Amino acid sequence: MPTNTSRPVRVRFAPSPTGDLHVGNIRTALFDWAYARHTGGQFIFRIEDTDTDRVTDEYIQAAIDTLKWLGLTWDEGPEVGGPYGPYLQSQRLDIYAEWASKFLANGDAYYCYCSSEELEARREAQRKANVAPGYDGKCRSISADDLARYHSEGRKPVLRMRMPDGSTTFTDAIRGEVTFDHNFVPDFVLVRGDGSPLYTLAVAVDDVMMKVTHVLRGEDLLSSTPRQIRVYQAMGVSPDEYPTFAHLPFVMGQDNAKLSKRNGEVSIAWYRDRGFLPEAICNYLALLGWSPGEDRENVTMQELTELFTVERVHSSPARFDMKKLEAINGDKIRELTLDELLKRSLPFLKRDQVITGTDAEIALVKTALPIIHERIATLAEVTPMLRFLFAENFEIEPDSLPKVADDQAQAVLKKSLEVLTPLSTWNHDSIEAALRAALIEGMELKPRIAFGAVRIAVTGSHISPPLFESMELLGSAASLARIKAAIK
Ligand code: GLU
Repeated sequence: MPTNTSRPVRVRFAPSPTGDLHVGNIRTALFDWAYARHTGGQFIFRIEDTDTDRVTDEYIQAAIDTLKWLGLTWDEGPEVGGPYGPYLQSQRLDIYAEWASKFLANGDAYYCYCSSEELEARREAQRKANVAPGYDGKCRSISADDLARYHSEGRKPVLRMRMPDGSTTFTDAIRGEVTFDHNFVPDFVLVRGDGSPLYTLAVAVDDVMMKVTHVLRGEDLLSSTPRQIRVYQAMGVSPDEYPTFAHLPFVMGQDNAKLSKRNGEVSIAWYRDRGFLPEAICNYLALLGWSPGEDRENVTMQELTELFTVERVHSSPARFDMKKLEAINGDKIRELTLDELLKRSLPFLKRDQVITGTDAEIALVKTALPIIHERIATLAEVTPMLRFLFAENFEIEPDSLPKVADDQAQAVLKKSLEVLTPLSTWNHDSIEAALRAALIEGMELKPRIAFGAVRIAVTGSHISPPLFESMELLGSAASLARIKAAIK
């Protein structure tokens, strides 16, 4: 991607943790990280927590944990520090205050005493007159009388940046040349009445002070760029030192609407708890707006860092597709070794109280995993698949009860018990041979009907791993006892 100078690449991910990071934030973090790794640059993680009403320590910690869980390690930021810290904006307030007073002293910024009621009334008038809404510059010059009155009323001013006439043009690495007419970029607030800095001030100051060379972020922030450039100008930064901007396309929900809880914009914790693998989430999110080429859909983190270029980022919106994420998750599960699958499945089985974690239980899970490895799309599915092996007080799930109760099912179960009881060798081959001979050939039943009843009797559910393997794992005593119990 084009750079203004040959400075070493420094990319930052700068969330405002006012909630859990969601799919859109993480896609940004992933692209930031991949770009830094691809170029051999530095990946900076900065917490934009100046909105103290909405940012909480829990959300900050959750953001840190999420990046760690996804494997997006940072070179500078919380917990690791770095030469341009602190990396929490709430710890940098004196830096913003210092720049704000410089802007005031230079005449780039001015105090604005307009109350919110006055501003609202004037905005209403602008709407009626069909002019672009925004601050009208009233306090750019204040008479001595007005000033005295404001002071006597105890008004606390905000600090506003003066936007000169004209326009701002910059080259976005994804969108090309972008121009903002300043008629639509009114003078904006840098510092609130209580002295706290606004996002536009803090983000621009930090990007300069932290020597950020590339800003890859969501398209929703495109319109903030001319204001940030205005702050760079006021700081005296030369244009060839401005960061290069790349605004990533929106991520839409399946129905082309904005992402919502229903179609994906939920926290990454939601996916983790449902057994999505971090490498699958990263792989899938990487495809939202970027492609590795040649219709490839499966990329490792290593390949992502090798292949990631901004030139391959599309400018059109990407669509979140849960089905595709599940398919990729299933593929990544199948790429795991059995030992790795075991390690990752155990927390789910413990959480769901299927096992407590004894050596014997773990050994049984390990034996059972090969028969479900091909069949699960998430780690959480291990629970319904393997519960039957451990159920101490085994019960058939209520929905499935009618399927073992009718006459035909009862006949199947009686016949099965009769042919399985004398089996001297209990393995899936001998079980299958006995049941096929008795039910399919002997009773002339369709496999779905015949084995369906046995499956429910033995596993308690119509969804389970392959029947004969399941019965082998469960053992003859428990299998026969369950069939007996299902016979009225
Ligand atoms: N803190 C901003 C946000 O979370 C993003 C800042 C930026 O990337 O410029 O919306």
